[in-house]
Amino acid sequence: MHFDILTIFPDFFDSPLAQGMIRRAVQDGIVTLAVHNIRDFAEDRHAMTDDRPFGGGEGMVMKPEPLAAAVRHARGQVTGGGSEAAKVLLLSPQGQSLNQELAAELAAERHLILVCGRYEGVDERFRASYVDREVSIGDYILTGGEPAALVLLDCLTRLLPGVLGCDASAANDTFSPGSRGGLKYPQYTRPRVFEDREVPEVLLSGDHAAIADWRLVQAVRRTARRRPELLKAADFTPAELRLLAK
Ligand code: SAM
Repeated sequence: MHFDILTIFPDFFDSPLAQGMIRRAVQDGIVTLAVHNIRDFAEDRHAMTDDRPFGGGEGMVMKPEPLAAAVRHARGQVTGGGSEAAKVLLLSPQGQSLNQELAAELAAERHLILVCGRYEGVDERFRASYVDREVSIGDYILTGGEPAALVLLDCLTRLLPGVLGCDASAANDTFSPGSRGGLKYPQYTRPRVFEDREVPEVLLSGDHAAIADWRLVQAVRRTARRRPELLKAADFTPAELRLLAK
C-alpha cells in the first residue's frame, strides 16, 4: 500500500515514521511512503500556502492551487495503475469519524493521499474538486492534520497482512470481529503476583475451554460497564449476554 502525505510541516513525520511497526512495514516493502511539502508547489515567490478568508473573519485559509498541484504530483508518483486508483483523504474535524470499520475499508485501498490542513482549513473549492473523502479522528480540534494523518497511518498499517507478528491479533482487538465489536478481555503477564494482586487462577489452569469462557465473560462485562452503547451493535449472542447476570 502506498501513502503520500501532503503537509506544510514535513519534518513532523521524520521520527514517527522511523519507529516500530511503520518502519518495519516500510522495510518489508508492505508500505511505501512519501511526505511532500505543500510549499514546494506554491506558485508565488514567497511560497505562500495560505491567505486571508474572503468575507473576512479570523485566521488564514489554505490556498487551493498548491494543494491541487501537490495532489497531482502525488498521483503521478505511483506507477502501475496505483496512481489512477489513488484516493484523496482530507483530515478534517468535519469528516467521517474514524473507527475500526472505516479503517478496515480504507486499508483495502492501494494508494491513499493524506492531506493535512492547517489554520482555518482548506479552500472549499479544493475540497470539492480533489477530495474523495474527509476523515476525522474525533470530535475535537487539532492545530493541524499531521497528528490525525499519523493516527490514520498507524491504524491502517497494522491491518495490512504481514505487518503484525500474528495477523489474528488485529482481528481479535477491541472493536474488531474477533471481539464481536466489543472490548477485548483483560490481559496478564509475568509475574504471577504483582503488589499483592494475583493473576486469575483460571489463566494458569491450562484448561483452554475454561480460559475462553472466562475471557468471554470478562469481555461482555467490560463492554457493558465501560461502553454500554457498543453492546447494541456488538455481535454477542443472547446466551453470552446472559453471562452478565452471573
Ligand atoms: N476551522 C476548522 C473548523 O472549524 O472545522 C478547523 C481547522 S483546524 C484548527 C486545522 C486543521 O487541523 C484542519 O484543516 C484539519 O486538517 C486538522 N484537524 C483538526 N481537527 C481534526 C480532527 N478532529 N480530525 C482530523 N483532522 C483535524
